[in-house]
Amino acid sequence: MSQNRSELILNLFKESNALLKGHFKLTSGKHSEWYFEKIKLIERPLVLEKIIDLLVEEINKEAPEFDYVVSPAYGGIAIGFLTALKLNKLFAFTQRVEEKMTVRSGFSGLDKSRAIIVEDILTTGGSIQEVLDCLQQKEVEVTGIYCLVDRSGGEVLIQGKPVRSLLSLKVEAYEPDSCPLCQQGLPLVKPGASDKK
Ligand SMILES: [Zn+2]
Repeated sequence: MSQNRSELILNLFKESNALLKGHFKLTSGKHSEWYFEKIKLIERPLVLEKIIDLLVEEINKEAPEFDYVVSPAYGGIAIGFLTALKLNKLFAFTQRVEEKMTVRSGFSGLDKSRAIIVEDILTTGGSIQEVLDCLQQKEVEVTGIYCLVDRSGGEVLIQGKPVRSLLSLKVEAYEPDSCPLCQQGLPLVKPGASDKK
């Protein structure tokens, strides 16, 4: 990926306020230079649309064959829906029912079709794996897995491969004692609590 394209992607995430750069106190107590607030990705639809246009370019480069885009609720719904709209494909979503990831009922054409999975932010890969498992139960052939941001920096493997992402960024977390940002005297910010899993 060219430098310009990487910068464009980074700037779009900053424009959406989903990616903040500064000096943050994480819930773990460690300090970090970057903070993600993934719900922000869907707050500005026009910015999200520009991000999805770039994702669509990546998907078109690989040209997987598929009928459906499938995403996990809730954040993934807007992202997967927009991706499906741009690619003129069908859309379905999964949701957790009593902790278990399941395909929302009513998407009757999904069984035995081909699908790609689109997720917002990959952290541990847990929810993508769960989506994959429930699609396999419906004999859906998964021909591609994509996310907007891979926070593992490519370390999380699904089916033995890193997930295709627009932005791959391993976020370093520092102990307060050895935090270079503290040493620079940057003010520490505690971001608002958000739903994390
Ligand atoms: Zn610090």
